[in-house]
Amino acid sequence: MAAVLEIRDLEVCYQGVIQALSSLSLRVSEGSIVALLGANGAGKTTTLKAISGFLPLENGRVTRGSITIGGEDVLKLAPHKIVRRGIFHVREGRHVFSEMTVEENLIASTFAQRSPRSRKDAFDEVYNYFPILSQRRNQAAGYLSGGEQQMLAIGRALVADPEMILLDEPSLGLAPLIVSEIFEIIARINREKRVSMLLVEQNAVIALKYASYGYVIENGRSVLEGPTEDLANNQDIQKFYLGVE
Ligand code: ATP
Repeated sequence: MAAVLEIRDLEVCYQGVIQALSSLSLRVSEGSIVALLGANGAGKTTTLKAISGFLPLENGRVTRGSITIGGEDVLKLAPHKIVRRGIFHVREGRHVFSEMTVEENLIASTFAQRSPRSRKDAFDEVYNYFPILSQRRNQAAGYLSGGEQQMLAIGRALVADPEMILLDEPSLGLAPLIVSEIFEIIARINREKRVSMLLVEQNAVIALKYASYGYVIENGRSVLEGPTEDLANNQDIQKFYLGVE
């Protein structure tokens, strides 16, 4: 299958000295869910920021390697241009505008809309995947539960009609039942709209269940990759990520 996203030999430094990635390579093919696993500080979030163009905002820089989307080199593009190429980054910690209502949060994403559909159609789609957001549409986002805020963060991505969503720790701080509910919807979005997902997740059980392919990142490089059913049977993964004795 065609690769939506291809990263080759990526090296990233913060503040000119702190090397966060060294020679990282990965690909995400059309319509797939790919997981990035790895310990704290391994470089997972940095990988997502390098793709979405956010690194310069944190004094980070790609010092070597390439990132292509649909074959096009996007390394020098600003974040709003990356969004136009169909890649939407749902950052860790959800990042909704807490004083704005749910619907105003969705309106804030319309700048990124790629398809000619109306706002109403875009919002109806969000409310179809997340009916609770429809009930809460006039409430300030800050009053939503953690799970609802995560739904809103994904809803904001949907408004843009992306080809790929970069999902950073969507399960963080959420109860297991809510995590399952959100991942079932993520899987539906992937299946029904063929939106690819690059998923960073500390919860390896969930990541290996919903992704079809995965990479294990250590010290800024990929040390293991494969179909998730193979990774789930790998002894190191079982020991370090799944807690199997
Ligand atoms: P976590 O799960 O803790 O977010 P991660 O795998 O996503 O971990 P990164 O956040 O990508 O890891 O961090 C990779 C390395 O880069 C770490 O050593 C981290 O300290 C460093 N780093 C990350 N962001 C910055 C920054 N803004 N300035 C300087 N160093 C940074």
